[in-house]
Amino acid sequence: MAQLHLFGPEGTPLPRLEALDIFHIESGGCTGCALELASLSRALLAGSHPIRFVPTPRQAGMLLLTGSLTAGMAPVVELAWQAMPGPRVLAVIGDCAVDGGLFGGNYAVLGGVGERARTSMALPGCPPAPDEILAALVRWQASVRGTSG
Ligand code: SF4
Repeated sequence: MAQLHLFGPEGTPLPRLEALDIFHIESGGCTGCALELASLSRALLAGSHPIRFVPTPRQAGMLLLTGSLTAGMAPVVELAWQAMPGPRVLAVIGDCAVDGGLFGGNYAVLGGVGERARTSMALPGCPPAPDEILAALVRWQASVRGTSG
């Protein structure tokens, strides 16, 4: 498989962001986590929260993955990562994305991205509920603001 730039060299620091425009990819789970994210996305649309889900990676500062990473989806994830302009961070939501969860490695499944790439945020759960996901995102934002100056 071609080198995936997403899985950069060990020790490469990822920048931290203030804005939180999120592009989500379901990379190969049961879609349970993706459904929880869809619920959260609709709830955020109804309010005035600064956290947004955006339709293209070109608008995003955070790439958020759910599901174990399949071999077929790895190039898609890589393309999305490369399409993100400027500073960007990677987040993984749900057991599958964090460490492979129910979908361990085999010839078609590479496993959890959380074990392969440096992530800025990792939230386990099968699936985590929308309020847990929102709380984790808000905590992450607060930690960024607390350390950025
Ligand atoms: S963590 Fe659980 S709910 Fe989420 S994709 Fe994996 S099996 Fe489905």
